[in-house]
Amino acid sequence: MENIQQLIQSAQEEIKTATDLVAVENLRVKYLGKKGLITALLKQLGSMSPDERKQMGPIINGAKQELQQLINKTNQALTTAQLAASLAKESIDITLPGRKQTVGTLHPITKVRQRLEELFVSMGFDIATGPEIEDEFYNFEALNIPAHHPARTTIDTFYLKDIPYLLRTHTSPVQIRTMQKQGVPIKTIAPGRVYRKDSDATHVPMFHQLEGLVVDEGVTFSDLKGILNNLLESFFERKVELRFRPSYFPFTEPSAEVDLQCTLCNGKGCRVCSDTGWIEILGCGMVHPNVLQAVNVDSERYTGFAFGLGIDRFAMFRYGINDLRMMFDNDLAFLEQFY
Ligand SMILES: [Zn+2]
Repeated sequence: MENIQQLIQSAQEEIKTATDLVAVENLRVKYLGKKGLITALLKQLGSMSPDERKQMGPIINGAKQELQQLINKTNQALTTAQLAASLAKESIDITLPGRKQTVGTLHPITKVRQRLEELFVSMGFDIATGPEIEDEFYNFEALNIPAHHPARTTIDTFYLKDIPYLLRTHTSPVQIRTMQKQGVPIKTIAPGRVYRKDSDATHVPMFHQLEGLVVDEGVTFSDLKGILNNLLESFFERKVELRFRPSYFPFTEPSAEVDLQCTLCNGKGCRVCSDTGWIEILGCGMVHPNVLQAVNVDSERYTGFAFGLGIDRFAMFRYGINDLRMMFDNDLAFLEQFY
């Protein structure tokens, strides 16, 4: 009898001082489980005399109920306390400064390409694209650069291993493909990536070109000058002075390099223009009859002009960047300036 009272008392104390749900569950097993101490007492009732059973039965059963209630209460208290603790831990301190979300920005070259595209579209040009892996026909032969032509050796071409393909060295193949596909008249630009084995402050092995082509009846060199003047004045948002210097390209005749009067020193001479007052900005010319014939266009009836400019170079002028390689270093500190 006394032993039972002691057992109940120590069970109550243990349950009351349990600090977590696992401990409470362990105590339940210890006292009320299948092999628990109270359960063992209940089992003993069967072997008692009727008198003893009458006296002990209510005590042991009462103890069982009391402990079960205490366990339930303790479980509930612990659960509530745990919830309160985790809520306190997860609460948000609204006085903390917010975390800044960084928003992406377009690459300066992409911005300049889009700007050039918009200007050309406003002048009635279509935009064409073509593959960056080309064959020799489209990259050279159709552009009046046959296999033995010296220009082939002056262009540092990336050839693909074991197959007769190459990385296009200019966007000119797109002109050929577009003329083949839609014939003439044509008024289109082809912006895109081109590849040459070259690397220094103003050259990288992959760069961006924009090629323009206009073929129609009665197209003259003065149309070319007008388009280029219009383009450059719109792009630089100021009046520009242009200089056409005779040059040579296999796919145009006559050909010219176009110089822009230095926008920084207005032709007086500075570091950017190497004290010449002029900046070489693009190449152009009247489409060579051989190029028109290569795509079955009647070169007696149609004439045209073509020009090619470096998008990266235009971006350098627009943003005052003097090392082209910075464009491709993917340095965020540099790129974030072009929001
Ligand atoms: Zn200058």
